[in-house]
Amino acid sequence: MIGFIGIGIMGSRMAGRLLAAGKPLVVHNRTKEKADPLIGKGAKWADSPRAVGEQADIVFTMLADPEAVDAVAYGENGLLNGLNPGSLWIDSSTINPAHSVRLAKDAAEKNVRFLDAPVAGSTGPAEKGELIFFVGGSAKDVEEARPLLSIMGKDIQHKGANGQGTAMKLVNNLMLGQTVAAFSEAVAFGESLGLDKKGLIHSLLEGPTAAPILHFKQHKVLDGDFEKADFKVVSIYKDMELAAEEAYTHNFALPISNTVKSLYGLLKQKGMGEYDFASLYKFLKNDSNR
Ligand code: NAP
Repeated sequence: MIGFIGIGIMGSRMAGRLLAAGKPLVVHNRTKEKADPLIGKGAKWADSPRAVGEQADIVFTMLADPEAVDAVAYGENGLLNGLNPGSLWIDSSTINPAHSVRLAKDAAEKNVRFLDAPVAGSTGPAEKGELIFFVGGSAKDVEEARPLLSIMGKDIQHKGANGQGTAMKLVNNLMLGQTVAAFSEAVAFGESLGLDKKGLIHSLLEGPTAAPILHFKQHKVLDGDFEKADFKVVSIYKDMELAAEEAYTHNFALPISNTVKSLYGLLKQKGMGEYDFASLYKFLKNDSNR
């Protein structure tokens, strides 16, 4: 039996892939209603993370942040209290490497194996099984997990020991946050110069400076539909903050990322935390048009 805890934007789609592939699945989510569609398709509901651990040999977690992972992992009804010796816990949440290392250590004390396996790619790739996994942990455990990861992802990259998967993910998301910020500013600025939004986005995306992610994100900016998030402001802000904290302990300044991070922090402060992070465009455009 496979366990899945955290049925949010990403978890619902990833667990859905496992279920569609015929894997027996037991699920739990803090808010039960979000798991109802999966239960309707045959997933079994468990009342607590502990109950998932008791029933599954391999458990995935896909949770918001380090605090959410701790809330699920520890305590009387926590996952670590339910997992059987020899089982495998695969955490796909984006958290900081030091946290992954600590989870791996606490799991090992219970004879539970641990992989940090965060993903690159958003809702589209999650639905199509085209995520990229950055995995930290033992090579043997990665090989055991590979068939399941391959149902959800197109590329399974083993980055090294525990913590190296989440390290790669934080590095990746620094560029993600900066890329979308640069695009948002460029489009808002172009419009302030009198350029047509659709035409200027076309020129940017046809040119050599546009990252592949922008081919997806352009639609949010074109439609102005930011309330239905693929990736929330709070999530990118969290990722860049975790990177900043990790950088502090490594005496690395991250001057560019920290400036961009503050922009997402500002959006959150202004009540836009649940919006898609491309809403930075909306924020910058309003300012530039005063
Ligand atoms: P989401 O929709 O907000 O899902 C977050 C999940 O965490 C939900 O299941 C939520 O439960 C749970 N959770 C939050 N706080 C909790 C707590 N204190 N105790 C127990 N459960 C808690 O976010 P998401 O976009 O799926 O992101 C999940 C992870 O994937 C994050 O680490 C994010 O950075 C990463 N990620 C996201 C994307 C993307 O494009 N969306 C891409 C790559 C990686 P409730 O349903 O009860 O709130």
